[in-house]
Amino acid sequence: MPKKVLNSNSFLPLALSFLCVQALVLWVATMADAMDSVFAMGATYALQLLAGLAAYSACCWRAWTSPPRLRMNWILICGSMLLWMTGMALSAWGDMVVHAPRSTAFISDFAFFIYGVPMLLAICLPDHRQRVWLLAGIDGLQALLAGCLVYIRLFSTIPFIGAFAPASIHLLVQTYLAENILLAVAVTARLLSCPRNTEERSLYRTLSLFLWSYAGCAELFNFFDIRSKHAVGFRSILMEAPFLLLALVLLLSDVHIPESKTAFRKTKLALFIETLSPIFFTLALTALGASIVRRHFHYGLAAIQIALVLYAVRATFLQNRYMQSEKELAEAKERLQKLSFQDALTGVPNRRHFDEIFEMEWSRAGRVMQPLSLLMVDADYFKRLNDHYGHPAGDECLVRLAQALKHCLPRSGDMLARYGGEEFAVILPTTDRLGAENVAVRMQEAVRALHIQNESPVGEFVTISVGISTYAAPALARMHELVDAADRALYKAKQNGRNRIEFCEMPIETEIVRSLNEPQPLPALAARDKVGTAQPAPAPGHEFS
Ligand code: GH3
Ligand code: MG
Ligand code: MG
Repeated sequence: MPKKVLNSNSFLPLALSFLCVQALVLWVATMADAMDSVFAMGATYALQLLAGLAAYSACCWRAWTSPPRLRMNWILICGSMLLWMTGMALSAWGDMVVHAPRSTAFISDFAFFIYGVPMLLAICLPDHRQRVWLLAGIDGLQALLAGCLVYIRLFSTIPFIGAFAPASIHLLVQTYLAENILLAVAVTARLLSCPRNTEERSLYRTLSLFLWSYAGCAELFNFFDIRSKHAVGFRSILMEAPFLLLALVLLLSDVHIPESKTAFRKTKLALFIETLSPIFFTLALTALGASIVRRHFHYGLAAIQIALVLYAVRATFLQNRYMQSEKELAEAKERLQKLSFQDALTGVPNRRHFDEIFEMEWSRAGRVMQPLSLLMVDADYFKRLNDHYGHPAGDECLVRLAQALKHCLPRSGDMLARYGGEEFAVILPTTDRLGAENVAVRMQEAVRALHIQNESPVGEFVTISVGISTYAAPALARMHELVDAADRALYKAKQNGRNRIEFCEMPIETEIVRSLNEPQPLPALAARDKVGTAQPAPAPGHEFS
């Protein structure tokens, strides 16, 4: 069950009664013709601060409970709320204590403007996997630059230097509108880029609800504020409503949205918007730079250039990272492919690789009219070795067998693969029967030289049986028939006593070219019959010598 902090039965009436209290205070003040009284102003500002505090607390609670990847976004939003409350407190101080003129910008306006900086950072924050110190540094620099530009824009002076010339209320209202619209558009774009049913989407949905309502309410508030001679009025309710709405939505919505495994699969558009979102900060900075360029040419120009350079640094960094990860991905793919073609125990190619190469060599043999030989090699009485010396010893034997057999391959194009269990397959391109038999003899000798203990009817060491078959192009035959023939030859070798080499013709559908490739049997094999039926195996160590 999703967790909820409050239910609508408790917070909604609370928020509504809050607004009613505010309306009541203002109505009493209007009736008493005391809109500028300390009571009316104090109560209104206190209630506005309370609304901000409610939103701030709800954001803090969200920062606390949200998944770590969204914590920074919520912390930045909390920072925004704090700045807004600071603005409200300064505004109260300006109206009630120093009686600042309402026709020009006051220091509270600076805080109200700056509220947008952490908010924009929270909106533009890259995916948590892309958060690195360089990007964080760029964000920090942009925030600082934005703060300075806002100050210059509002007071027409460089912070702490020069004469203070606050902007007019009309200019102020326009700038507020531009800021609020930029924030709302940016968050809507980000919302569109979020996959459904994710906490990211919930965050940006809540923020876009808040920012659009804030943009609307602030515009209405400013519209009435310019025309009013009182510091507070019923319009003040407009400034509380978006914050109460934010608190309400945050406290009522689900804390943890169960996310499916596919939730983070983003569409192309979503990825595009997400990649583009840092541009909103650049847009804000260039707009601010352009807005001061007439009165502060060098600062305005420098701000625009810095904004562009920071965007370029960010883009270059991300592009570089992207290319790096592409390279790593390609390498990992290659490693994976290699592994998927390799037998884990012996390190030689596996059956899958064998199938692929065999198919390739088969078609090449037909194309270039060259013979192709296939050897099936099987360890004799291997089960005994396992039973007698244990499975690990069997494994080690297979590793040594594979290495020994591999070293017997005469050409780089030859291939040894583990066919399965204690059976190996050898592909010998451009090799006729005679060549294949030579290789088989060499393999038997190499295995015998290993002197791996395995008492059996054929001797005290491990031996192998080899079945050979050769395809002689351009005879008509099918690929699997060569394997079948080599298998039959191996079976025959086993039947005839093991530790021996047998040859089997493959069935071919034409006799045209057989004579071209008539194999010349080894002297040692000459005694065999025409289809390769061997004599009983000689004593180990003496056969074919
Ligand atoms: P034959 O001379 O007729 O080939 O007899 P064999 O005992 O070698 O053949 P059999 O098919 O009866 O037994 C094969 C044995 O090979 C049984 C199986 O446990 C063992 N084996 C297959 N793969 C592995 C492996 O990866 N490691 C080990 N240690 N043993 C294996
Ligand atoms: Mg065997
Ligand atoms: Mg076997």
